[in-house]
Amino acid sequence: MTYKSKFGFGCMRLPLTDENDSSSVNQELFNQMVDIYMENGFNYFDTSYAYHNGKSETAIRKAVVERYPRDSYQICDKMPTWALTSKEDNDKFVSEMLERLGIEYFDVFLVHNINTPWLKLAESYNTFEYVRKMKENGTAKKIGFSFHDHASLLEEVLEKYGDFLDVVQLELNYLDWDDPAIEARECYELCVRHGLDVYVMEPLKGGVIVNPSDEIKDEFNKFNPNKSIASYALRFCASLEHVKIVLSGMSSMDDLTDNCNTYRNFEHLNSEERDFIQSIALKHKQNLAIPCSDCGYCVDACPEMIPIPEYFTLYNLSKSQPEYNNYRLYFDKLADEKVPAGECSYCGTCLDFCTQHIDIPDELKKICKHFKEGFTPYSS
Ligand code: SF4
Ligand code: SF4
Repeated sequence: MTYKSKFGFGCMRLPLTDENDSSSVNQELFNQMVDIYMENGFNYFDTSYAYHNGKSETAIRKAVVERYPRDSYQICDKMPTWALTSKEDNDKFVSEMLERLGIEYFDVFLVHNINTPWLKLAESYNTFEYVRKMKENGTAKKIGFSFHDHASLLEEVLEKYGDFLDVVQLELNYLDWDDPAIEARECYELCVRHGLDVYVMEPLKGGVIVNPSDEIKDEFNKFNPNKSIASYALRFCASLEHVKIVLSGMSSMDDLTDNCNTYRNFEHLNSEERDFIQSIALKHKQNLAIPCSDCGYCVDACPEMIPIPEYFTLYNLSKSQPEYNNYRLYFDKLADEKVPAGECSYCGTCLDFCTQHIDIPDELKKICKHFKEGFTPYSS
């Protein structure tokens, strides 16, 4: 395996024609990005039943499946664990996914987002056994699960099912490596101990790493003005021996070009760079009030349709860069154009969905207080 083969195209944040409609994938731009990605010798696409409200899979069919020979690319898809209501649903979802993609087998198939409540669902409906049969009958070449919980739960899952699985997809990046809420290092080491490959998701922590404060940007610039902030994060993950794929969710041609450069001329992180990003991680943590990765799962789950990650981003910015005093304006605008944060009914539905274990209703309450009391309205 070469470093080049580790670069996976994450299809959860594809370019859109309408920023307010996650199903409006910009097919033309995505096709162009796929062509450049493939021309550069990369070939791995990661999607799920849920991404872009099902439109990620159809976009891959149009951009990849209908335009390239089947043996020139690999596709990973994922069972929507939270949507299972019966054993028969396993079959129903897999047939639908194969049809949306226009393929006859998956290169990799994962049980999506195993955490405490959804492990129970997957076990109630025999999903791990079902996935094992998919591998036996050739519907999937490699099987595993994606994971967003603590190392103790991962150990439990690996003890039960690790002997017939190939892959665990983990959230792993230099901010989460030693973070007690994510335990990325422990999770990685557990997978290695059980002999499973690690596929990395969120190497940029949903964009948090590449959108730091001006102070952190200056530090990167001083350290080496010729390397992008994203390149360090990708190299951190791909330098780990048992990491076989590092997904990158790319929404623009610039993202793609930068990442192609990183992998075409791949360099292991050296010790000086490692020390540097460790110091950056500490600074990030001091600045990041709410560790949201902008995955969007909570928004789809919220009955009030509150744009939760947008409020969290605004709050984080207001804490890390308080010198810009337009935040109250944006807070009011978000409430007017979408849904006010104060509409939260404390139903708690979002809590099972949060990949970062954030107490969303409590944070929303805090944010309302912060913007209403802590900031002067822009117009006054
Ligand atoms: S607790 Fe609030 S934010 Fe969470 S799902 Fe319920 S209404 Fe939405
Ligand atoms: S609050 Fe949690 S579920 Fe919602 S976008 Fe952020 S990390 Fe994802």
